[in-house]
Amino acid sequence: MQKRIALFGSTGSIGTQALAVIEANPQLFTAEVLTAQQNDELLIQQALKFQPNIVVIGDESKYQKVKQALSSTDVKVFAGEKALEEVAAMDCYDLMLAGIVGFAGLKPTLQAVEQGKPVALANKETLVVAGDIVMQKAIEKRVPIIPVDSEHSAIFQCLVGENLNPIDKIILTASGGPFLGKKPNFLVNVKRDHALQHPNWSMGAKITIDSATLMNKGLEMIEAKWLFNLKPDQVQVLVHPQSIIHSMVQFEDGSIKAQMGLPDMKLPIQYAMAFPQRIVNQFARYDFRKPNTLTFEEPDVKTFRNLALATEALQRGGNLPCILNAANEIAVYAFLRNRVGFLDMTDVIERTMNKMDFIAQPTLEQYFETDAAAREFAATLIHL
Ligand code: NAD
Ligand code: MG
Repeated sequence: MQKRIALFGSTGSIGTQALAVIEANPQLFTAEVLTAQQNDELLIQQALKFQPNIVVIGDESKYQKVKQALSSTDVKVFAGEKALEEVAAMDCYDLMLAGIVGFAGLKPTLQAVEQGKPVALANKETLVVAGDIVMQKAIEKRVPIIPVDSEHSAIFQCLVGENLNPIDKIILTASGGPFLGKKPNFLVNVKRDHALQHPNWSMGAKITIDSATLMNKGLEMIEAKWLFNLKPDQVQVLVHPQSIIHSMVQFEDGSIKAQMGLPDMKLPIQYAMAFPQRIVNQFARYDFRKPNTLTFEEPDVKTFRNLALATEALQRGGNLPCILNAANEIAVYAFLRNRVGFLDMTDVIERTMNKMDFIAQPTLEQYFETDAAAREFAATLIHL
C-alpha cells in the first residue's frame, strides 16, 4: 500500500525535496495533493509529472492558466486560500506534508489534524503561533505530528524507544548562520543578497534570513517546547557550525543521545514520511575518518537579539510567540525588499512585542486577531 501524500507547499524548498523522495520511492508514496501560492509554472510541471488527484493554486488570478494547462489530465484544480483548507479537510490522503512557509500554514495544518490525518510538519510557524491548540487537538484526535525540521527530527529520533523516560533537557544545535562571530558594526551594513547565502543549507528565502538573524533557532525553541512537551528552561541552544549533530537529548541519568549526518533535508523529510520505517537512499554519508572537527560554542544573544526576544516569548507564552512571529514575518518581508536594514528587523519585532496586548490563554480566534494586529502595527513601523 502506497502512502498518499498531500504536499502543501509543493513548489518550495521542502516541497520539491519531498517530491524527490516520492519520485525515488514510487512503491511507498504517491503525490495525492500539490499546492502552491504563486509559482503556477512549477505547479503545472509537477502536476503533469506526478499526476496528483488535486492541485491548489493559492493566487486565484492564476486559476485559469493552471486549469487550462491541466485540461487534458484528470487532475482537479482549485484556487484560493479557502480551497487550501477545504482540500486539507478531504479524506483522499494519508499524510499531510506541511511545507507552507509562515502563518499561512496554520489553517490547513489544523484542518488536517481536525480530520485525524497524520502530519509531517515542516511549517514550524504553526506551532510557534498556536502550539497549545494544535498539540491539544492532535492528542484529542490521536494524530501523530512528526517533525521535519532537522533539529526536531533529530530529537524525535533520539526519543524512539525511550517510551516515557523523562527528558532532562534538549540541546538544539544551530549552525550560527552566515554571520557567526560578526558584531553589530558589521551587521548594520548587511544586505539581502549576503544574508541569503547560508553556509550549510539551501532553503527558502524566509527561513534563510531567519537563520542569519538566529530567529530561526528562536522559533525552533518554541516549536520544540510544544512538540516534546518541555518547560522553557529544558531547551538549550548550542552553536555547532558544521551542522553534523542535528540536535541532542539529555536524559535524567545524564546520558546524551545525538542524531548525526550530513546536512541534507531529504533525510528528515523521508524519515517523517516513512516513519517508523527507515528507507534506503543514495544520499552522501558522513565519514568520520576524513579530517574534520566538530566544534561547539554558546550563541551570542547580545549581538543576535532575536534569539533573546524569542526566548522571552518562549518563557512568557500566551500570545507573545504569535506576536513575535507576525512581526518577524513583516520584518523579513521588508528586509527581502531592501526596505529595512538587518538590525532594524529586531527593533520592529521588539517594538511590536512591547506594543501588543498580552493574552495569557488565547483562543484560536484571538491568535488570528493577534496575528493581524501585530502585522498591522509592525507594518506601520516600516511604512510598508
Ligand atoms: P519556500 O519559500 O521555499 O516554500 C514555501 C512554499 O509555501 C511554496 O510552495 C509556496 O508556494 C507556499 N506558500 C508561500 N506562501 C503561501 C501562502 N500565503 N499560502 C499558501 N502557500 C504559500 O519555503 P521552505 O524553505 O520550503 O520552508 C517551508 C517551511 O518549512 C517553513 O515553515 C520553514 O521554516 C520550514 N523548514 C524549511 C527548511 C528548509 O530546508 N527549507 C528546513 C526546516 C524547516
Ligand atoms: Mg531547523
